[in-house]
Amino acid sequence: MYILYDVADNIATITLNRPEAANAQNGPLLEELNDAWVKAAEDPDVKVIILRGEGKHFSAGHDLKPDPSTPVPAKMTLEHIYQVEARRYLEFSLRWRNIPKPSIAAVQGRCIAGALLLCWPCDLIVAADDAKFSDPVVAMGIGGVEYHGHTWELGARKAKEILFTGRAITAEEAEKVGMVNKVVPRADLDKETRVLAEQIAAMPSFGLRQAKRAVNQTLDVQGFYAAIQSVFDVHQTGHGNALSVAGYPILVNLDQMKTTIKSAN
Ligand code: ZN
Repeated sequence: MYILYDVADNIATITLNRPEAANAQNGPLLEELNDAWVKAAEDPDVKVIILRGEGKHFSAGHDLKPDPSTPVPAKMTLEHIYQVEARRYLEFSLRWRNIPKPSIAAVQGRCIAGALLLCWPCDLIVAADDAKFSDPVVAMGIGGVEYHGHTWELGARKAKEILFTGRAITAEEAEKVGMVNKVVPRADLDKETRVLAEQIAAMPSFGLRQAKRAVNQTLDVQGFYAAIQSVFDVHQTGHGNALSVAGYPILVNLDQMKTTIKSAN
């Protein structure tokens, strides 16, 4: 079981529970995670949803090792990649973002690439002071992870900088650009997130629902939804290029990767 789920005092807590792999996401983990979100969305007793990760790190991103639940076809095609990624890396994130209940991500340690697809869809983010956010996939010949929150979350210049360099931004820097709501000592992360969730849970459900919809709808009118969809396709051209060059969905330049990961730490 990769996901733990608990409800108390009108607050659902969804926990990524693969700490031995830094909560890296394989197919079953993401399917279980989506089930937990749907359960929280449908439970009338749940008013607020917390997403957290067990262990030292929130999540190391997508698990690049072969996933037994998603058999790789004899010949890897863009159609196969597109199909898998559209469900798990685009539709899931958008669904979680649009659940009509407030959600809070509690992030500590590393939050790398695909991990952003878990915390960005949440309404609020509380970061531990040791949290570091990065998307180093340009080093793999891809223009950024599947769900393009970067520009919306960081602003255009910062988005380009972190994509071009692959460097990580600290919790403090993320707070400065408005990507996280507050930074708290690592030891207080769960407690502080809980306090915030309790404060929100004391509000009327329908007011919360309307407030969330007002903000999300404003972003959608500004082009959020259309941009997320079209940049997903930009991402797929990266996989298409890698397939045509290397026969594999990403370009793996190990030296480049090592340099990028080193500078991101
Ligand atoms: Zn991808």
